[in-house]
Amino acid sequence: MVSSADVVIIGGGIVGSSIAYQLTAAGCRDVLILERESHQGKGSTGKSMGGVRAQFSTAVNIQMSLYSIPFFQTFEEAMGHPAGYRGQGYLFVATNSRHLDYLRTNYERQVALGLKQVRLVTREEISNMVPQLRCDDVAGGSFCSTDGFVDPYSVMNGFTARAVSQGAQVARDTTVTAIELDGRGVSAVKTTQGTIATRTVVNAAGAWAAQVAKMAGLDLPVEPLRRMLVPTEPFDRIAQSAPMTVDMSTGFHFRPEGLGLLMAWNDPEEKPGFKTTFDRGFVEKILTHAVSRVPVLEEAEVNPSRAWAGLYEMTPDHHPILGLAPGIGGFYLANGFSGHGVMHSPATGKIVADLILKGSTDLIDAKLLDYARFAEDRQIEETAVL
Ligand SMILES: Cc1cc2nc3c(=O)[nH]c(=O)nc-3n(C[C@H](O)[C@H](O)[C@H](O)COP(=O)(O)OP(=O)(O)OC[C@H]3O[C@@H](n4cnc5c(N)ncnc54)[C@H](O)[C@@H]3O)c2cc1C
Repeated sequence: MVSSADVVIIGGGIVGSSIAYQLTAAGCRDVLILERESHQGKGSTGKSMGGVRAQFSTAVNIQMSLYSIPFFQTFEEAMGHPAGYRGQGYLFVATNSRHLDYLRTNYERQVALGLKQVRLVTREEISNMVPQLRCDDVAGGSFCSTDGFVDPYSVMNGFTARAVSQGAQVARDTTVTAIELDGRGVSAVKTTQGTIATRTVVNAAGAWAAQVAKMAGLDLPVEPLRRMLVPTEPFDRIAQSAPMTVDMSTGFHFRPEGLGLLMAWNDPEEKPGFKTTFDRGFVEKILTHAVSRVPVLEEAEVNPSRAWAGLYEMTPDHHPILGLAPGIGGFYLANGFSGHGVMHSPATGKIVADLILKGSTDLIDAKLLDYARFAEDRQIEETAVL
């Protein structure tokens, strides 16, 4: 284990790996990723649904997707490693005029920011895209053909492999236990494998980010929230080319996965916490919503032992917290993705690397996502959270 590094990244998930890639690509090669697990991806990254979309309601989230989705499209060419990107689209299905107005407002903002592939769709178009949907109450929807899904584990490995080939190192089985500060800011991190002297630390600890921030004396408003996914057994009644389909009346959504489907639903009864056991009672709840919108799913088989749970990292305004922590020199935050950490990992890597190396970024107005927004009452609420 090295005893010093220019930049230490705590957490080797998709976010830490992306930051390491961008730093080393920009010539900052003495980068060390610290990961407490024996393998990367055991946090939220390996549990993710892999959805990527530009259909958001806030400009900053749209801008992060406008950088990230083309990045995924050319990932294999640029990184020499597959991202598993499948541009099958996200189809939002509205059943009332409030949701339809909401989609229209978002659509106008998305187009104004340069998204070309998004369009509003009629009930007939929706029914043609996914004929198995019950459409009697559907008012319309929106569809973006470049939205879709990636393989998060593969993306993380691609970022890591390129970062390592550009000079970064990864220390696995290495838990950060303390962050040391002096008059200038961070001076070292203590780990289970020894102390590493550094002037720049990035908190990329996912759902555990608040614990890591505490080590530097910072209260970080990031809470873990369990999220469960249910795959079906092989099921051929819905095309493998179907989009990620979102029933806005319940929040139920699904996409093709393997020979079957992967189903998700945000249970409003879920309380913040680190619990990651899969609750078998969830299967009945999700199937109720599934069958009500997609009656043919009554025939789908589900094996609860193949379902799983992971953690979202939630912030109060459902946007990430990026950049320098106030008053702690050299301590950078890349946290709180609120369900969007995979799709925004390319933009996050670029933004955080820019902020570390240049103090500014052209990709977004970084002030919108800084830590101070909570104290200064500048939150920007994202409502298109699944
Ligand atoms: C069920 C589910 C579905 C999701 N679906 C989507 C989706 O469709 N699209 C999307 O964009 N996002 C989705 N997400 C969210 C996405 O997975 C996360 O936002 C993203 O993976 C966060 O990446 P990360 O690298 O910040 O965190 P993680 O992958 O959790 O990595 C953090 C790492 O930090 C390590 N760590 C923590 N503390 C320490 C320490 N003290 N010392 C050393 N290492 C430490 C952990 O071991 C972990 O490996 C989903 C999440 C879940 C759970």
